[in-house]
Amino acid sequence: MTKDQLRDFFVDQGDKAFRGNQVYEWLWQKSAHSFDAMTNISKETRSMLEEHFVINHIKVDQMQRSSDGTIKNAVRLHDGLVVESVLIPTETRTTACVSSQVGCSLDCRFCATARLKRMRNLNPDEIYDQVVAIDNESRLYFNRPLSNIVFMGMGEPLMNYNNVLNAIEKITSPEGLGMSPKRIVVSTSGVPKMIKRMADEKVKFGLAVSLHSAIDEVRTSIMPFNATFPLKDLREALEYWYAQTKSRITYEYVVWSGINDTKEAVDALVKFCKFAPSKVNIIEYNPIDDGEFQQASAKAVEMYQNILEQNGITVTVRRSRGKDIDAACGQLANKQ
Ligand code: SAH
Repeated sequence: MTKDQLRDFFVDQGDKAFRGNQVYEWLWQKSAHSFDAMTNISKETRSMLEEHFVINHIKVDQMQRSSDGTIKNAVRLHDGLVVESVLIPTETRTTACVSSQVGCSLDCRFCATARLKRMRNLNPDEIYDQVVAIDNESRLYFNRPLSNIVFMGMGEPLMNYNNVLNAIEKITSPEGLGMSPKRIVVSTSGVPKMIKRMADEKVKFGLAVSLHSAIDEVRTSIMPFNATFPLKDLREALEYWYAQTKSRITYEYVVWSGINDTKEAVDALVKFCKFAPSKVNIIEYNPIDDGEFQQASAKAVEMYQNILEQNGITVTVRRSRGKDIDAACGQLANKQ
């Protein structure tokens, strides 16, 4: 319920609207799991709330820790379904990687989550609660609060647009977690219409696009939905995004041998992203299957680095984190 709905509810009950603010604060800012925790509200009011409402709080069912410090949570939702979220610590920051859907409706052939199929969208509170759980773990195990959030867990955030934006609104609001939107990145496989909508709404968080190839034929063969949202439409939406937000675009890119480890592939990438300040994150491939996909050679990755840099495009090469507990990119698949 919105704060106004809660306020109205209390007025209808013959109570003060202000009570709605109090309950709202307990629910969001203090992440109360039960009405009993709301200690500045009278016992009678709490049992009245108990009769009318439930708090569908998530439950961290299982926590796994990687040898590199990464933590993976298996998060149980009120209806028994499970999603995963990951805490990624570095020297200076703690990043939460959160899920936006149970499973995923996209069909990327190299991604384990794609095999789960999409069961449902997560609600704003279910996204928010994943962040709170990781913030608590960060304080407990690393003595510092969570610093960054990436929507790179299970699901395609832009196919659950309203709930993801609503969650971010709560995460960034002083009435929620008060985090800066500059520390949040939404990652998408590229839904052009929704990228334009974010641009129109002048959102303040960052955008990352899982590109992997700038050649339609190749991209469609590894990310079949590219047939529906071809590169031309994606590129047009990104141009619109940049025109509206002036915000740099990050591309996630895996280099596989025999798929995109050619000079032609790099040239296409340069051509695709040169129109705006861009950063390419080359991520390590995390094998999920019988070897259909193979990480390209270090030499091929170097070729990408050199050519991108020569063209003024920022490039970083990322090592995987949390591989030993299946917490790395593309490995979230509720294995337990
Ligand atoms: N659906 C959104 C959010 C998921 S982000 C998106 O596609 O952006 C997860 C990231 O991991 C994406 O960049 C995805 O392309 C990448 N990925 C998927 N499977 C992978 C694998 N096996 N190894 C490395 N990266 C992978």
